[in-house]
Formats: sequence, structure tokens, C-alpha cells
Amino acid sequence: MTYKIAVLPGDGIGPEVMREALKILDVVERKSGVKFQTKFGHIGGEAYDKFGTPLPEETKKLCFDSNAVLLGSVGGSKWDSLPPHLKPEIGGLLALRKSLKLYANLRPIKVYRSLISISPLSEGVLKDGVDLITVRELSLGVYFGEPRGMDEEKGYDTMVYDRKTVEKIARVAFETARNRRKKVTSVDKANVLYSSIYWRKVVEEVAKDYPDVTLQHMYVDNAAMQLILNPSQFDVILTTNMFGDILSDESAALAGSLGMLPSASLGEKVNLYEPAGGSAPDIAGKNIANPIAQILSLAMMLEFSFNMVDVARKIEKAVEMVIEEGYRTRDIAEIPEKAISTSEMGDRICEKLEVIW
Ligand code: NAD
Repeated sequence: MTYKIAVLPGDGIGPEVMREALKILDVVERKSGVKFQTKFGHIGGEAYDKFGTPLPEETKKLCFDSNAVLLGSVGGSKWDSLPPHLKPEIGGLLALRKSLKLYANLRPIKVYRSLISISPLSEGVLKDGVDLITVRELSLGVYFGEPRGMDEEKGYDTMVYDRKTVEKIARVAFETARNRRKKVTSVDKANVLYSSIYWRKVVEEVAKDYPDVTLQHMYVDNAAMQLILNPSQFDVILTTNMFGDILSDESAALAGSLGMLPSASLGEKVNLYEPAGGSAPDIAGKNIANPIAQILSLAMMLEFSFNMVDVARKIEKAVEMVIEEGYRTRDIAEIPEKAISTSEMGDRICEKLEVIW
């Protein structure tokens, strides 16, 4: 079996952290016997500099011809004054996301015990551990519902959810829960919004196919509060486009650094995996960025695109063990002088993965 992976390092810290993720992929290939064919493509500012466009046709074709896309990040002040369609973020990444027809965004958040001190929440709140994943619907809701527009008198948007869309995203959440602690919290505003009443009805219908998974409903205002008061209660949070946009950023804050947070976006045919953070121009080129978000994005790719769930768990375990042993990049270090480099963090996770395989 050979899996084809489009590798798009992009701008800023993208190439540095991607290098470390690919070291992990080498270990996985050697240990598992599964073959991965990686092909590099250009995206973002660096693509604009070379080809005059942040998303060359060749890159799109590479992505469509692959089984998965592993992306670094795009953007930087050098390209901020370009018109929108040439900007790395809009003409590059957003355009790629659109052409892949992404419909679900998955963002896991884990607060490691030894990193509780860098979280903005207190030890008392975090003592039971935080290990949750937000499954956000990406294709509809108030961001895309019609009619939408603005005139001299008003601005308006339409929040709409149809059966097909809710069923599809609910299945992603229930399937994800099956590989975790088997609990789905569906977040809506069914006390006020018709689209949420409908959402809740369809989620309940889908739940009947997953009797091994516990379903709980929660209003979004309460969910926002519960994430701060008692985040340990959550396993899988299933929610709409806008509520997910807000709650996934809120929960990201719990981990203390963007450098720890991976993401996956599921598409019609090809999924996209990328760190939750950006290109971090302030630290780019210094070998000090945290590669863990990129490495965990690779683990998500193995789990969600290639069904290598055990291998994904092994990578997560290796990351956790290296952190528990006290190794830190600068963003998560309490004593900056003791921080290790991007490449050393990658090497240590590789070594650990070899040991625990
Ligand atoms: P950012 O996420 O790049 O950085 C915010 C802060 O987090 C910075 O202090 C940065 O050093 C830190 N950080 C982020 N990732 C890190 C890592 N792996 N290790 C250590 N520290 C890390 O957000 P920003 O500064 O608002 O944006 C910078 C550029 O990135 C902009 O051009 C923006 O448009 C772009 N951006 C791209 C994406 C993407 O490619 N998906 C997402 C967000 C922002």
C-alpha cells in the first residue's frame, strides 16, 4: 500500500516545523511497512514570489492527485499589501480549502499535566486533565446561508441547516467519539433558533446508529462557560460553523500555546491537515518554533485519512512522554534558557516513538 501525500510547507515557520513532521513520517514508514510518497508543492507568499500566484495550478493538481494534504502555514507582512486574491491567506489557503470542499474541521485540545502552569486556567480547574476535540461544521450555517447581504437600511445573514449537512457532520463526531471516550456534546441554541431545533432533531436521529456513544446537548452560551469552569467534562464537541469558530478558539486558549495545536479539515475527497496557528513570522528561521502542532497534524492525517489509529496514538504518546520528561521549546518553557530547538524537539519525539513502537 502506498499513500500519496501533498506536502505544502508554505511560509514563516512552516518549512521548519514540516521538516520535523516528515522525520516522524520516516519512522512510521520504517516501522509500519506502509509506504508514503511525499511530493512538495508551493503555496502562500513563497509561491507568489516564484510564480506570481499564492496557489499555482500545479499545487491544486498535486493536492487533488494525493490521498491527503499536509500543510505548514502561510502569510507574512511582506505580502500584506497585495490585493486580496493574491494574498497568501485568501488567494492561497482559503482558495485551497474552498476547492477541496472542506466540510468538517477537527481541533483537538489537550492540556498536558506538566504544562498546566502555562495554561491561563488554574490548576484546580485542570486537575482532571483536558482532552477534547471540537468537530465544527464548515460548509453551511450563518456564514454561507442565503439570503445574505447589506443595503443602506440593514445587514443580514441567514442561519440554515439541512438534513444532509447535519447528518454528515454528526457522523464525523460520533465516529470520532468511538475512537476516544465515547461521548458527544452537541452544542446549539435550540432554545431560540429554528436551525438549532432542526440540528438537534437530526443529531438525535443519527445518534440511534451509535448506541455505544453517549449524546448530550448543551446550549452554546452554557458551553462557552463550561469550557472555562469544567473543561474535563468534554470529549467530542459537535457544533455548527459559527459556534465552532468561537468555541474552538476559546478552547485553544486552554493549552497555553498555539504551537501545541493541530487540526484536520475533512473534504469531499482529500483532507487537509495543518497546525491551528499561523506562520509566526516573529520566530521564523530561528529554529525555535514548536513542531508539535505539525507533528500532531501528521498523526491526525494517519488516523483520519489512512485509518492508522494505533500509529496516531503512538505518536501522541511519544509527544506526551517527551513533554513529561521536561523537554520544552521556547513557547512552552518556564525557563527560556533551558528551551530546546525545533530540530531537537523533533529528534526527541522520533527517538521516543522508536522506543515505544
Ligand atoms: P500566528 O499564529 O502566526 O502567531 C501568534 C503567536 O503564536 C506568535 O507569537 C507566534 O510566535 C506564536 N506561535 C504560533 N505558532 C507557533 C509555534 N509553532 N511555535 C511557537 N510559537 C508559535 O498568528 P499571527 O502572528 O496573527 O499571524 C502571522 C501570520 O500568519 C499572518 O500573516 C497571518 O495571516 C498568518 N496566519 C496563517 C494561518 C494559516 O496558515 N493557517 C493561520 C493564522 C494566521
